Amino acid sequence: MTLKIAIDGPAGSGKTTTAKLVAKRLGILPVDTGAMYRAVSYECLRRNIDVHDEKSVERIADSINIDQKAIGDEIHTYLNGEDVSDKIRTPEVDKVVSIVSSYKKVRDKLVEIQRKLANTQDVVIEGRDIGTIVLKDADIKIFMKASLKERAKRRFNELRAKGVNVNFEDVLRELKKRDEMDSKRELAPLKIPEGAIIIDTTNKTIEEQVEEIIKIIKEVKNKIHT
Ligand code: C5P
Repeated sequence: MTLKIAIDGPAGSGKTTTAKLVAKRLGILPVDTGAMYRAVSYECLRRNIDVHDEKSVERIADSINIDQKAIGDEIHTYLNGEDVSDKIRTPEVDKVVSIVSSYKKVRDKLVEIQRKLANTQDVVIEGRDIGTIVLKDADIKIFMKASLKERAKRRFNELRAKGVNVNFEDVLRELKKRDEMDSKRELAPLKIPEGAIIIDTTNKTIEEQVEEIIKIIKEVKNKIHT
């Protein structure tokens, strides 16, 4: 049996960075499922596919190969062998990813990849539906949240640091829209999994978030062994 740590939460709640650092501390695999939905979205944009055309998007998802590896401190995402890790974190992909991720066949394909990864090794896996759907049997479920303003600030700073010219109001509006679409969709909506431990990261540093999760993991592991 592998160790499965599930982290869910909205965009900008700190999931990806925290998952990466927790995985590094534990020496296990970090998995960023949002990056997989982003990779499908990126391929649609690159091939000029209308993302509202479900059948075409599903065909794209079906025809591509997606893989992920942790190298050093980063999670790298590969699309047909090409490292697209930077190319998938753009405002263009942000705009369409919630539409692409609402399609059943897209989700079925990516959930299968995610489950395979989690069933063959110990993982810290983050997304929107990990504790509710992908790994309902996860050993530890965490739900990370933060205020909309704080999450928008983080996303804005991240994009600016990469040299992307965005304005704060636009980032906030997009994030709010994505929150709504991800929470209200029919399939695998973002919600707090039953039994999840909630961490509000609004006023927390990354180091504090990592320490808190490591502490939770140790407590759960102790309980399992006593
Ligand atoms: O986590 P990140 O913001 O990169 O995720 C991008 C998008 O991918 C989300 O807004 C959501 O639409 C989708 N997603 C999903 N299920 C997951 C992870 C992400 O639907 N498990």
